[in-house]
Amino acid sequence: MLGPVILAASRSDKMRRFVSAAPGTKQVVGRFIAGETVEQVIPIIEDAADKGLEVTLDVVGEDITTPEQAAAARDAYLELIGRLEDLGLGTRAEMSVKLSMFGQALEGGHELALANVRPVVEAAAAIGTTVTLDAEDHTTLDSMFAIHEELRRSHPQTGCVIQAYLFRTEEDARRLAAAGSRVRIVKGAYKEPASVAYQDKAEIDKAYVRILRTLMDGEGYPMIGSHDPRLIAIAQELGRKAGRKLDEYEFQMLYGIRSEEHIRLAAEGHRMRVYTAYGTDWYGYFMRRLAEKPANLLFFGRSILTK
Ligand code: FAD
Repeated sequence: MLGPVILAASRSDKMRRFVSAAPGTKQVVGRFIAGETVEQVIPIIEDAADKGLEVTLDVVGEDITTPEQAAAARDAYLELIGRLEDLGLGTRAEMSVKLSMFGQALEGGHELALANVRPVVEAAAAIGTTVTLDAEDHTTLDSMFAIHEELRRSHPQTGCVIQAYLFRTEEDARRLAAAGSRVRIVKGAYKEPASVAYQDKAEIDKAYVRILRTLMDGEGYPMIGSHDPRLIAIAQELGRKAGRKLDEYEFQMLYGIRSEEHIRLAAEGHRMRVYTAYGTDWYGYFMRRLAEKPANLLFFGRSILTK
């Protein structure tokens, strides 16, 4: 029952100030956030490449409040892409973006987010990689899917995320399972009301499997975002049944979570992509990781008390 409380706190400015200032926070944040700057994240991408892993990079940040912040978010991604190009890492790394960081919630936000994300998609394509649009809370999704569709007109490889906990997702998955699409399926990380989302873990898992089957049987490229061993085994089985080769779908996991599993799946010949978040505005991302596993909260609490 702690998860929803932590998710509510993830939207509180008071808690943001408290958590950010607490002694010991940095150490725990460092488990999930790969660094604060591009330069700190580059060795992590290189290390992942040495281990046969790929990455998707998230410059953390969301819920910005001014157009200037949205432009700064765009520029942070452009700087990252420039560094990847310099280092020849373009083919090992794709980008994950949250449209709220590009201004989606501001006045005229749909157009603003599209205008900010487009140059990022173009710059990524120019170095041989691509962008995936993360899924945020359910109120943002119609706009996210419309932006995804618009971007795909010029850059069909642009990916998006769908969340198994939402009732709407099975229909979204049917629409998105078409040739050329790249779709990441995840359970869902936000606090959603019972009017739009399953609340029971077993129901969410069952929906995840139904959606996975739709994606595997479809013609697109499924990206399985999960650390759940049962779902990973089911995905392998569904991939086999659908006649897919190992490079016709991929697994994705978060940096700092079940790292030994990243290596195991890559060693089995699977494509494994590590979602690697970095930057200074880590609060919302960090709180969602705490909410997913309340044991993380104990670890966090202990590190505060022992400082
Ligand atoms: P769970 O049942 O939650 O976890 C299975 C096991 O994994 C746990 O028993 C535990 O051992 C381990 N584990 C899971 N989470 C943690 C954690 N935080 N700390 C320590 N161990 C953990 N959600 C969105 O709403 N939108 C997105 O765009 C989005 N993108 C994602 C991208 C990737 C690559 C991944 C992997 C997840 C993403 N998520 C996103 C988060 C997702 O919705 C889930 O909240 C998260 O993946 C936990 O679900 P799970 O499938 O790993 O299963």
